[in-house]
This record gives sequence, structure tokens and C-alpha cells, in this order.
Amino acid sequence: MTTERIGRTYRVLLVLLVCSLAAAVPAAAGSSPSEGARPTVVLVILDGCAAYSLDLLPSEAYLRQAAAEGFYQHVRTVFPSSTAAGHAAILTGKWPDENGVTGKQFMGSDGTLNGFSSPQLLEAPTVIERAAKAGLRTACISGKEGVRSLFGEDADLAVSPASVPSWVLEEVGPPPDESTQYEDYCGWYEKLDRWVIDVAGAFVKEAGPGAFIVLNLAGPDKVGHRFGPVPAPETTQCLISVGEALRGLTGVLEEVAREDWAVVVTADHGMTSVSKAIVPSELFGGIADDGLAYSLDGGVLYAWPTPTTEEAVVSALKGAEGVAEVITTSDERRALLHASHPRSAPIIAIARQGYMFTESSAFMEYTKGSHGTLLDTDVMVPLMVYGPQVVKTGIGISEIGDTVEIAGVLAELLGGLGD
Ligand SMILES: [Zn+2]
Repeated sequence: MTTERIGRTYRVLLVLLVCSLAAAVPAAAGSSPSEGARPTVVLVILDGCAAYSLDLLPSEAYLRQAAAEGFYQHVRTVFPSSTAAGHAAILTGKWPDENGVTGKQFMGSDGTLNGFSSPQLLEAPTVIERAAKAGLRTACISGKEGVRSLFGEDADLAVSPASVPSWVLEEVGPPPDESTQYEDYCGWYEKLDRWVIDVAGAFVKEAGPGAFIVLNLAGPDKVGHRFGPVPAPETTQCLISVGEALRGLTGVLEEVAREDWAVVVTADHGMTSVSKAIVPSELFGGIADDGLAYSLDGGVLYAWPTPTTEEAVVSALKGAEGVAEVITTSDERRALLHASHPRSAPIIAIARQGYMFTESSAFMEYTKGSHGTLLDTDVMVPLMVYGPQVVKTGIGISEIGDTVEIAGVLAELLGGLGD
């Protein structure tokens, strides 16, 4: 059924449609969308989905069927294998030391730690920005507010559960009620991902042909952290549910964009099973009182010591159970890992397989998955492209090995975006 449906998209469909370009969603400055002038491309970022997770899904899962119908392979995300850096690499086509998004947090000039939540921190243009300049309608629809706030500024429609424009409330309705999240954790995230995809469908209809839509689906990450990666049944079910919603989006794309659409599916990072904690407050003891700021990102710890605490911090980390590697300022590995940006922490520690950095070992009772390291399960992510526009452009992805190359694929599918 699904295979037939996807296959159908490769044949020319004569569909008469009434294309409404009503300005319920504000148009990008200078844009003048015209029917059929540009394809519609949807970038789906499965937050926290390791490549092997897709391979382990049952064969009837839509994501498996779409992979078989289009092109599919494993590619490598950046270090650290975490959300902000992973998304920035995909959307800018640049490494962390080139785009400025170096991890979860960085030390601000005021001496406090900041998250990557402002587009001013991006040091390279995103595909969203380039697509908007090229006259395409654009949307950034995210299950995570941080992704919306970092990448949504240039989009005609920017949505997260924490920021829902009235147009979305009218067309699709509100996201699932946050107060009910813990009654049925997996079900709640399945609903959230379905809502994100429903908003995408509504935007595709509203925009008409010629649009670029970025989706962040938070469920695989949130459920994976709590229950562990596939084959954990909860995370498996989450990805099956995401696939069913994407099957529905394919139907919308067929209606609106006829034979001029493509979907690109990838992930910002993977997910690894963990059972043991590395607790920095226990590790550093009194060092922190003498001047040490640090930030935890699952499999990675970033530390900003003072000159007087640096040696003790490195020594504590190197002697800690569960720490695989400690990267200092002068380490040659830093350049190889693209961790040489001024925002990159002077000390970076990476956890061994099965361990994660956390504030308290008590958190491990309900944390079964983590990411951030250089393990294959954290850095190898899926790259899948399907839809008739893939065939029309003759695009191949077999040469692509890193997620930073996906921006080039998107630009090509969108008909070329210039620089
Ligand atoms: Zn993520």
C-alpha cells in the first residue's frame, strides 16, 4: 500500500488544484511565490535517532518503506553529537567551528553560561534563510523551543509548543497539553510529533507549490532518553508513529506539489544505551569553589576552569571512572573534531560507552539513553531522500558521508539557492 503510494508519486499526476496563496501566513519580504515555480522540500530531523534504530524497525514501518523506495544510507553527524550543534551543521552546511554552534552551552562575555537560543549566534546562513531569499515560502516547525528560537527567525512560519501562532491554532489546533505529559510519556510525544507534522501539512497547503519546511521531531529523543534507543519498545513505537504521520504528509505533498516535492529525513545525533553516571560535583569536590564553570551534555562535559584550577580539573577528569577522553586547549584532536571555535570549552571530556555525565546518579533510574560522544551509536545518523523531485533532479547521495553535506542536497532539490 505504502510502496504503491510512494511509487505513484514518480508518475506524472494531472491534478487540478486551487492554489490559495492567501496571506494568512506572512510572506517573506520580496517573495512572490508562483505556482509550480519551485518545488516543495521537507527536511525532517528525527531528534536523537541513530541510523541503526531505523534499520531495526519492522519492515512494514513507513520509514523503512520510504528508505527502500528512495535513497538511504548512514552519515556522520558532528561532534558534539547533540541537538544545537547537530541541527546547525545540517542547516548551515558548516562544521561547528565555522558556524559558531559548538555544543549545548558556551561561556558568555559576562562570565555566565548561555544556551544556543538566538539566531545572532549563527555565523553562517541557514538553508531556511537562503530559501527565503530565493523567494520560497519557509517554515521551521519544531517540537523543541530551542530549535525554533535558533533557526526560525527567517522563516515565514516559526512554531514550537512554546510559541504557537494564531494561524496554527486556527488551522490545526494547539499542541498536546503539557500538564498531561507524564500521564502517558510516549503517547504524549507521539501526539506532539503528529502535531508538528500536521502543522507542516497545513503550511504546505497554505503556501502552495514552492516551499521549504524544516521539522524537528522531538519524540525519538525524549522517549529514547527515558527508555533507551531502539529496540526499546517505547522508542520503536515512537518511530513507527512518526512514520505514519509522515505517510499522511506524503499525501498532502502529492496533492499540493504534484511531482515537484521531496522529503529529506535525517537526525541531529543518535542515541546510546547508558546505565552508569559520572557525577561532576563528586568528581571536582572543592575545585569548583576555587573557580570552575562546567556544563553537562549527556556524553560530554565542557569545563571552563581558571588558570589555578585547570590542572586539577584535567587530572580529576582523566582519573574518573567512565571518562574515555579529555581534550585540552592544546590537544591536536581539537582541530580534527572541529572544536577550535572560541566558544568551544577549553576542556572537553567525553564519556565511555554506557556512561553519561549527570548531576545526580538518582537520575539514572529514568534515563536509559544518552548522546554527545564519538561512539557510532551517537554519531551515525540516517540520511534518506524520497519523492519525485529526487528522481527529476537526478540527485545522488551515495558520496555524502557527513551531515554538513546535506545543505548542498537541499539546495539542489530546491532548484539551486546561490550562496
Ligand atoms: Zn537532539
